[in-house]
Amino acid sequence: MHLILIGPPGSGKGTQAKKIAKEFHLDHISTGDLLRNNPDLTKEQKELLNSGKLIPDMMMLDIVKARLNKCHGRGWILDGYPRTIAQAHLLENALEDGTVKVLYFTLDTKELVDRITGRLSCPACGSVFHKITRPPKKDNLCDNCGEPLIHRKDDTEEVIKKRLDTYFTYTDPVVKYYQDKNRFYNIACGNKHSIDEIFETIKDKL
Ligand code: ATP
Ligand code: MG
Repeated sequence: MHLILIGPPGSGKGTQAKKIAKEFHLDHISTGDLLRNNPDLTKEQKELLNSGKLIPDMMMLDIVKARLNKCHGRGWILDGYPRTIAQAHLLENALEDGTVKVLYFTLDTKELVDRITGRLSCPACGSVFHKITRPPKKDNLCDNCGEPLIHRKDDTEEVIKKRLDTYFTYTDPVVKYYQDKNRFYNIACGNKHSIDEIFETIKDKL
């Protein structure tokens, strides 16, 4: 199975991707995590990342292709890619088997800012928590791997505005690109649904 997750920052793509990956034995490819864990980023690239702007399409293509080549599970989940129409075209050209399912995470934009400003992320395994709504079991340590949690540099109110802006300008059009030609599923992921409920919905659809 090959999946693409699309949705605004904070919509829960990473959280659900981890659960889907485990359930269906897929590789979870988070481009945000790949970039944050890349020791070779230049100062300019770090600046783009920390200010909520996009990394150039061709660099992203190289990163994603290299990661896809390392997959040896039963498939993959792309979380954070493609994020522009150009990236969608490049991906299509790079894939030999074009059958991809798309999950589109929808929720009220108002809910996003709260989720992101309270978010705690694990720099080692990419798990995410929330200070209030989903605190880790042990203070500030990852439930999954025990590493100290961090507040991402781009998870501040100021940068979130820019990230949402970038999302609505560049990534939202990608939804239309996939809507007609792929198996496409809307996933309601607002606060009235729990993480487990959303996961059940996803499993049903897949
Ligand atoms: P969330 O982690 O809440 O899903 P997000 O989708 O904004 O939020 P990431 O996917 O972690 O965050 O991406 C963080 C940053 O990494 C982006 O703001 C951008 O700078 C860079 N980035 C990640 N994926 C891409 C991509 N496909 N194209 C260009 N830049 C990217
Ligand atoms: Mg994410």
